[in-house]
Amino acid sequence: MIPVKTIETSLSTTNILIVDDKVENLDLLAQILREQSYKVRLATNAKIALKSAKIASPDLILLDINMPEMNGYELCRLLKKEEKTQDIPVIFLSASGQTFNKVEAFAVGGVDYITKPFDISEVVIRIENQLKLKAAQAKIIELNTNLEQKIQQRTAQLKAEIERRERAQAEILRIALHDTLTNLPNRNCFRQRLELEMATTNQDPDYQFAVISLDCDNFKIINDSLGHNVGDRLLQAIPTRIKSCLPDGSFLARLGGDKFIILLPNLQGLKIPILIVETIQQKLKSPFRVNEREIYLNISFGIVLGTSEYSQAENILRDANLAMYQAKALGKRQYQVYNNHMYQHAIERLQLETDLRKALVNQEFIVYYQPIVNLRTGYISGFESLVRWQHPEKGIIPPNKFIPVAEETGLIIPLGCWILKEACQQVFNWQAKYPEFNSLTINVNVAVQQFSYSDLLKDVDQILEETNLNSKYLRLEITESAIMKNSELALHTFEELKARDIKICIDDFGTGYSSLSYLHKFPVDNLKIDRSFINRIESIAKRNKIIDSVINLGHHLDLSVTAEGIETVTQLDYVRDTDCEYGQGYYFFPPMSAQDIESKGLLAQKKSLF
Ligand code: C2E
Ligand code: MG
Ligand code: MG
Repeated sequence: MIPVKTIETSLSTTNILIVDDKVENLDLLAQILREQSYKVRLATNAKIALKSAKIASPDLILLDINMPEMNGYELCRLLKKEEKTQDIPVIFLSASGQTFNKVEAFAVGGVDYITKPFDISEVVIRIENQLKLKAAQAKIIELNTNLEQKIQQRTAQLKAEIERRERAQAEILRIALHDTLTNLPNRNCFRQRLELEMATTNQDPDYQFAVISLDCDNFKIINDSLGHNVGDRLLQAIPTRIKSCLPDGSFLARLGGDKFIILLPNLQGLKIPILIVETIQQKLKSPFRVNEREIYLNISFGIVLGTSEYSQAENILRDANLAMYQAKALGKRQYQVYNNHMYQHAIERLQLETDLRKALVNQEFIVYYQPIVNLRTGYISGFESLVRWQHPEKGIIPPNKFIPVAEETGLIIPLGCWILKEACQQVFNWQAKYPEFNSLTINVNVAVQQFSYSDLLKDVDQILEETNLNSKYLRLEITESAIMKNSELALHTFEELKARDIKICIDDFGTGYSSLSYLHKFPVDNLKIDRSFINRIESIAKRNKIIDSVINLGHHLDLSVTAEGIETVTQLDYVRDTDCEYGQGYYFFPPMSAQDIESKGLLAQKKSLF
């Protein structure tokens, strides 16, 4: 509410124009008003009055009706037409006895009338009233103007606020749909885009599109060796290179980490996506330059064709990823196109993982033992423990069917620990039970993950203590790749094992990285020549250079050598002839349960197996 103020009019500054052709009337009124301290101007005809009013607007006009040439009504009409004078209140003066048309007076814009002869107090009050009314109107106009200005101001403020909020909302939406590191659309945004494509395939069953899942190979190594800062810069540079290979209308997003995804709309078949992947692969042949460094990067690609067969965006993403993981499994830096076997395989693998977890709880594993023979004496010198899974429905499952999954899922840690304990306990029992075999050794396979696992030494110590096995009889078999994958940690672990007099064997020697430098660096005791070399032996006369070299290399480095997979007497003769210390293979015995080993009397008496 606007506060109502009493409206004051200052008489000394109030101008009143009196218009009358009769001078005596003018004089009388002028006198009355001057006595009331009004400023008075006089006009004896309409023309002068009009001019005077235009030059300086009076606050009020007292206008005689009856004037020659132009009467009061006409003048009033003219005043009301002019912008400058239209708001001046006009009070008509009428002589008594004159014909005075009140209706016309108000119709032409008059606000009041005074009849002659003038009653002074009436004149004063009517004038005052009109002036107050005018002042009140002016005030109202002023208040209205102020109010309007305030409304405009507030409207502008509100508009600015709305715009600010809209911008903030747009920014929040942008952040929600974009990846901050690369500024690319993120997974959510990609899904929305993918759903649009799916809607199109729903409407037009012939419409096709493609999704390509990309995952950088060995990105962790870049992060770990060059630092996350370099890793981040590289992740920012990758999209630029990928985009340069994409046609207009393609959609590139970052799914997180080193994973990207591309959507190629409106396609027919896989020709174009494959061509695009090959172009990207070509572009990746030149290095990225980050912080003055040249970095070569490989990417694995999984391609899936989006057709009306898909009803869920999630499934397309899943299949693109399955194909990408298949590309990785097949040796990285390549692409795979999705096919239904991949899904089947993934389901089976998932089932296997679930079953493995249950098997661990239900103790469905059993350790088999394969004798290792001293090739100089022919006596059994020890055993290699080889795990099997006694599946309640599927029977005995060999390790290559489940160890890789156990490794991927980390289940190898508890499983490996159980095997180690089982094997140590068994060999200790045999040593105690068969005095002739009181120095039997036990070889236990250790996976890469177990090596990277910080509690390995603690577990080994605890198991040796619990089983009472002397540590010098324990031999851990590690593949070359396990050492190479984690050489810093491996060196420390090797030294700790050496300090406990535990022996280290390099398993499947010759099939891994074969970076021989580690043989100097690490305290290794034994090389196991992979059976793929042994089974190439044809005769003693036909020398196998690789086998001869490995045995020589081992002996030069003071390592003993074991030949794996001896199946024939020729193979046995060959490795004996080359002075290989140990051998194992079906020629002697396959891996067997502890029960079978005892029932076959293998440990009953020490005798040569030749
Ligand atoms: P590995 O450590 O190289 O074990 C030798 C493999 O060769 C064993 O297969 C053994 O049964 C097989 N073998 C031995 N002699 C002969 C032969 O004369 N001819 C043929 N054809 N094969 C022979 P297995 O038991 O199926 O084990 C396969 C692989 O699974 C092992 O290779 C090892 O890498 C892994 N593995 C087995 N048990 C364990 C375990 O307890 N822990 C870990 N981490 N891996 C294990
Ligand atoms: Mg082995
Ligand atoms: Mg082996």
